Amino acid sequence: MSIKPSSHKNWVICEDGISREKMRFQETIFTLGNGYIGARGILEEGYREECTGTYIAGIYDQGKGQSSEIVNVPNPFRVEVYVNGKKLSVDNMEIIEHHRMLDMKKAVLSRHSVFTDAGKRYEYESMRFLNLRNMHLGVMRFSFKALDSDAHVVVKRTIDGTTRNEIQAVGEPIKHYSVTHVSDTGSGKLYLEARTNDLGILIGVASADDMGTGKFQSVVERKCYTNGESVVREFQFNARKGEKYRFNDYISIYTSRDVEGDVETTCLDEVESARKHRTPYLLKRHVAAWDNRWRYSDVRVEGDLAAQKAIRFNTYHLLIAAPPEDINVSIAAKALSGEWYKGHVFWDTEIYILPFFIYTQPEIAKNLLLYRCRRLSQAKAKAKVQKYEGALFPWESAASGKDETPQWWKGPDGRIIKVYTKQIQHHIVSDIAYAVAAYYRATKDDKFMLDYAAELIFETARFWASRVSYNKKLSLYAVKEVTGPDEYHKDVDNSSYTNYLARWNLLYAAELYNKFLEMHPNRLKKLSKKMDLGQNEVEKWRDIGNKIMFLIGKNGLIEQFQGYFGKRNDVIEQWDEKGMPIYSKDEAKLKYTQLVKQADVMLLLHLFPDDFTADIKKMNFDYYDTRTTHLSSLSPCIYAILAAELNDIDKAYKYFRYAVNGDLKDYFGNTELGMHAASLGGIWQLVINGFVGVRVKEDILSINPRLPRNWQSLEFKLIWRGNNISFRVSGDKVEVLLSSRNKKIKLPMSIYNKACYIGAGKLTTVAK
Ligand code: BGC
Ligand code: BGC
Repeated sequence: MSIKPSSHKNWVICEDGISREKMRFQETIFTLGNGYIGARGILEEGYREECTGTYIAGIYDQGKGQSSEIVNVPNPFRVEVYVNGKKLSVDNMEIIEHHRMLDMKKAVLSRHSVFTDAGKRYEYESMRFLNLRNMHLGVMRFSFKALDSDAHVVVKRTIDGTTRNEIQAVGEPIKHYSVTHVSDTGSGKLYLEARTNDLGILIGVASADDMGTGKFQSVVERKCYTNGESVVREFQFNARKGEKYRFNDYISIYTSRDVEGDVETTCLDEVESARKHRTPYLLKRHVAAWDNRWRYSDVRVEGDLAAQKAIRFNTYHLLIAAPPEDINVSIAAKALSGEWYKGHVFWDTEIYILPFFIYTQPEIAKNLLLYRCRRLSQAKAKAKVQKYEGALFPWESAASGKDETPQWWKGPDGRIIKVYTKQIQHHIVSDIAYAVAAYYRATKDDKFMLDYAAELIFETARFWASRVSYNKKLSLYAVKEVTGPDEYHKDVDNSSYTNYLARWNLLYAAELYNKFLEMHPNRLKKLSKKMDLGQNEVEKWRDIGNKIMFLIGKNGLIEQFQGYFGKRNDVIEQWDEKGMPIYSKDEAKLKYTQLVKQADVMLLLHLFPDDFTADIKKMNFDYYDTRTTHLSSLSPCIYAILAAELNDIDKAYKYFRYAVNGDLKDYFGNTELGMHAASLGGIWQLVINGFVGVRVKEDILSINPRLPRNWQSLEFKLIWRGNNISFRVSGDKVEVLLSSRNKKIKLPMSIYNKACYIGAGKLTTVAK
């Protein structure tokens, strides 16, 4: 028997049989989440390879003189079943059937396993979800059946307070909390409270069962006890052959960040109320909430089943990463699916992940940006420490907004290396400003800009004005000693990506200032006073912006940084079976070559698609394509976008396949450490900007599809300036349906370079 998919096969990811080498990988891809909690897809009973991981957005701890780390909190999902004294587990029994299924439509993880011992078979099944309707609530149902004979069974249901951050690039595992209090309320409710080491945040986990009713009442003997740092509820019963014993369990998690009063009471009340509502009702509401999420985010592909599933998988992981209401958290490089990179937030969020949210869930995009706006003062403090003005956002950020970049890290060849990103990877400053501008362009959210983000734009411009140095001979400004996106070349001058974005940042700030001077003079006056900002300074930004060095040759070839073309001209000559480069990974030597870690100049061309001609794009693509190793998952998606733009659909599809299977099939090779969140966002951009050719041109949406050959059609939705727009691309036509409360609306659009106006409520079809 296997578990039956409740959704169509395009919506499910399955695991059939157990492979011990792949267990950690499976944990990552089966991560459940609701933006508040993320829980890796462990097997409830535990096993040798296990890498338990439950994380709460925004809960970090300092960790003895090191940088903050996301806390691996107590595991709420532990279940152990003992039959005649022996635990059902892959470590000490044979498992003859094992199926797991992640239903992405419903965000539910189900499992069916059959263990054998001494010739007898035992079935264990489970289902769990982290509620999207109420983000503090989890539900787990599990069942046991003795298939061949009666058996004496002990079930231990545990809230496990022994978890720690096992995965460290450098140093030993760290337990970031201690259990301060456990309780058994005597009515099937357990509670465990932990306190994080340095920040003293309280984390409460409660669980309630519904075993006190029905036929179980007479057969089950129950007791609760604490076991070291865990709290256990134990059931004992004699299982009759062939009879299924089913347990429902309700879990709630709150922290002292969420509640002002008593965390324990809040948790216990929550599970009590869940127990009254019962699983089917909670599941129904959870599924309805997910339906709603998918309504705006799903991308439907016809003609390519593998791509369809992979894109959904991608979107699923973006959606479970999205903090629903919190303006003090952002999305980490591994989202909430693993603790690699310590749960830190990089530029990955703004440049890669954010566009998906801007165009499908702008409220969430706004919150993610507010996370940065609210940390402006720390960014200003960092600038000051490094002797600059304005705001210098940290390369790696966590709760407080101070720079959390570790000093040491493990390089790709396993050697421990010193990390320079904190000191000089400054492009993050304009990456954040760029994301603010992208949100503003798509939403026209003046309030957000006036209340929060204009200050960020001005302070980032101010940073660049202090960061440049003037070259008198050339009458140009240089940006010295930086790391661009390509981290193989650590300390370079005039990185083209960095300089171009700095230039944009300065000019955009000047433009915004002038716009607000006209439109909101009073608000601007107030802000200017607060910032001590005057017209002269703004003019200076414009001047510097216009004179920042940009290394583009007469032929249009962009030099990645000053002196790059003088490096050893290595090119990629060998590729593996997935089409990825084979090269020597010795980081110390790579810096002497022209080999590039990840999209750098290419990313610039993607971010400013109208600033460069197709010829320039092609020339640069051809040059850097043969020199980029794609060691970072932030790379293939961007190359695919450029390839699509250049109408090289086969190449675009090659990179697409690699990127989209990066985590799903572990092509990146380290998915066990967590999902590659930036790549997920990059893939969405690849489909929408790359294959559909959606761009904003002269302030209107422009669409120029070039789908992979086997894609018969593609459907998706975008939110543009408050309008909900559905698109269907098939063959040589684009269909657009706009739903808007404003029935008189005529939204200008350019489709296949033809100007058109889209009215509300009726289908517009444009042929190529
Ligand atoms: C990344 C850097 C990062 C460092 C420490 C490296 O793998 O490439 O961007 O700062 O790890 O987290
Ligand atoms: C990349 C960075 C990225 C970081 C986190 C590194 O390997 O080089 O660009 O920000 O990973 O994903």
